[in-house]
Amino acid sequence: MFHFDQGLFLTGLHLAMDVTRRQPWGYISHAHADHIAHHERTMGTAPTLAMVHRRLRHSLTIDVLDYHKPLVRDGIKLTALPAGHILGASMLLIENDDSRYLFTGDFSLSESPTAGHAEFEEADVLIMECTFGKPEFRLPPREKVIEQLVETTARLLRLGVTPLIRTYVLGKAQELIKIFTSANLPVVVHPEIDTFATLYGEHGCDVGSYSVVGDQVPSGHVVLYPPHGSRHSRLHSMPQPCEELVVTGWAAQKGHKRIGSARYSFPMSDHSDYDDLLETVQRVKPRRIYCYHGSQSFVDDLKRLGHEANWLNDCQAIR
Ligand SMILES: [Zn+2]
Repeated sequence: MFHFDQGLFLTGLHLAMDVTRRQPWGYISHAHADHIAHHERTMGTAPTLAMVHRRLRHSLTIDVLDYHKPLVRDGIKLTALPAGHILGASMLLIENDDSRYLFTGDFSLSESPTAGHAEFEEADVLIMECTFGKPEFRLPPREKVIEQLVETTARLLRLGVTPLIRTYVLGKAQELIKIFTSANLPVVVHPEIDTFATLYGEHGCDVGSYSVVGDQVPSGHVVLYPPHGSRHSRLHSMPQPCEELVVTGWAAQKGHKRIGSARYSFPMSDHSDYDDLLETVQRVKPRRIYCYHGSQSFVDDLKRLGHEANWLNDCQAIR
């Protein structure tokens, strides 16, 4: 049904699945840079295609997927399901006469204010990402982390300290804007974050009112900026004093103390944590599982629990 050749392909339809080099026809689960390429023809949800278009700055020939509305090609049914990862992220349910296959892309079970949550269907074969496939990645409930993040940020602002959060410009950044605007905290963002937040608004996800950094960063605001080392990471001069906060699932790692120069870290992610990955398997009830992205030890954990599990990159053919 599938084959793996430096990326996953739905063999019969010649459909590339999140393959990052140009292909005749590619399904893109979501618009993070490590899932996209400028394919000759691109399939994805409307928000994903808009964001990919923005990223690649090229016109696209597209097949638009709506969640839960199947598209049939050569007798194979393709249905996008919400993935709960970022706005527009989808999982793909693939059905032929014999079997059902679920390809997850990046996904999250916990409810995000801007991306909802993953909605599963049962499948015979599950092809799943397992970024946090180690038991040490157990994240506290998202609402609790959000509460602590808002409390800390509000306290810093009251003390006249500028809270600075460096974050991926797509996904986490828009969720953070929404979290802070919902708590009535003033937010100012880098223009690159604004670009994607505007696309969120155009696709029905209003993140609230915020300002965009011009020549200067205004004081009295939570500041959202691209990560260290990225193309847009150069900082304007920041109002002082300034305190950096980190919001990432990696903060759940045992022994984690500090990331970069940040004193405060908050374990929140748009990926499923270890328990949610196991929960996913329970919900999908697959006969076979193929894992990718993340820890190979998750395959061993699944085998110990009695599942037939494989590491995707080790398999040339996926039945
Ligand atoms: Zn992603």
